[in-house]
Amino acid sequence: MLTPEEIVRIDQAHCWHPYSSLINPPPLFPVESASGVRFKLMDGRELIDGMASWWCVIHGYNHPRINEAITHQVEQMSHVMFGGLTHEPAARLVKHLVDLTPEGLTKVFLADSGSVSVEVAIKMAIQYWNSQQKPEKHRLITVRNGYHGDTFGAMAVCDPVNGMHHLFSAVLPQNIFAPAPPMGYDRQITDEDLSELRELFERHHHELAAMIIEPIVQGAGGMRIYSPQYLKAVRELCDEFDVLLIADEIATGFGRTGKMFGCDHADICPDIMTVGKSLSAGYMTLAATLCTDRVADGICRGEAGVFMHGPTFMGNPLACSVANVSIELLLEKDWQADIARIEGILKSQWADAMKIEGIRDVRIIGAIGVIEMEEPVDMAVIQPRLVEEGIWLRPFGRLIYTMPPYVISDEDLIYLCQKTLEVIREL
Ligand SMILES: *Cc1c(COP(=O)(O)O)cnc(C)c1O
Repeated sequence: MLTPEEIVRIDQAHCWHPYSSLINPPPLFPVESASGVRFKLMDGRELIDGMASWWCVIHGYNHPRINEAITHQVEQMSHVMFGGLTHEPAARLVKHLVDLTPEGLTKVFLADSGSVSVEVAIKMAIQYWNSQQKPEKHRLITVRNGYHGDTFGAMAVCDPVNGMHHLFSAVLPQNIFAPAPPMGYDRQITDEDLSELRELFERHHHELAAMIIEPIVQGAGGMRIYSPQYLKAVRELCDEFDVLLIADEIATGFGRTGKMFGCDHADICPDIMTVGKSLSAGYMTLAATLCTDRVADGICRGEAGVFMHGPTFMGNPLACSVANVSIELLLEKDWQADIARIEGILKSQWADAMKIEGIRDVRIIGAIGVIEMEEPVDMAVIQPRLVEEGIWLRPFGRLIYTMPPYVISDEDLIYLCQKTLEVIREL
């Protein structure tokens, strides 16, 4: 057994963490185990996880039903290649996804991570236009403040400033960026709000394969909430200018915003949709890209005759079996009520937060609560203070936010909300 000190020493000498330095390695908290909404550090402290491990763990850690499903699946088979073979977990999962997502999405590509599912979505759009004898339609349009993953194709549609595009400009595809959607779920969207986006469509539609956007909530690019009217307008612009719409639901999918998918707020169906993160409840890495019959037919009637992608671990049975139980757990309960409960607590607990000095904005939708500060937060100070209070949050930039597991109790959530404000006040 390694001691906690040994773990941290080895780790800091050799191991990259997300967006980290190895010259100035970040402080690390070794975790021993996790259960429900809490994890236990190796020093014995217990933390309430306000992050659901980057928005994935919707049913909590160590869930008996999910544990049982994955154990059962290990005993059947952990993996078989997906070329030429298939299995029940995959069949059940694609059926679930087709049933749950907006009507019109009928075909599913199982991918291994969110970024890969975005790459797949982009490749689908490009192959589609190729098959329509319009290979010049290969660029993407998106909005600023987006986040779609860290691989090259995905990175090229992330916010150019946050994503430091200049570092990679020699190799990144050059896409088209419209202003970020104006904030506010209830905002009445005017022609003015859409004028620049419309202009870009007018100027570039002949070379545009698709528009990609995170529906209703822009996640890692700024935690910004916008109006369903805007999303509807995006769908209409895509139709008007014959551009495919890719909805990146990796963060928003499976109830997080109060609807099953972000698109459901606007009652639209994208041509291509990506899901990931909470798809597999934080147990296994898994994502998927869905598309319509039109897109699938186009791709398969094109030059290649097939869709040109096939990951080694495609359709992994362990991951699919976990996703199936996760979806079944969600559907079995009144998940809308659970999300509404969380939203209600966030709203009441943070109702007066704007009065606290240093807080610029408070934004809440579904099981997402965001506090935007006037200044960037000092992670080296705030993280250890939150841990001392028994809370795990991972602020970035000026944003302190929570996206807790849906199973968090009222008591734990109230504690988390109050302690967060206390720590902000003190700093
Ligand atoms: C997290 C995220 C991704 C990338 O997913 P990974 O699994 O980290 O590759 C893509 N799009 C959105 C909206 C995300 O939130």
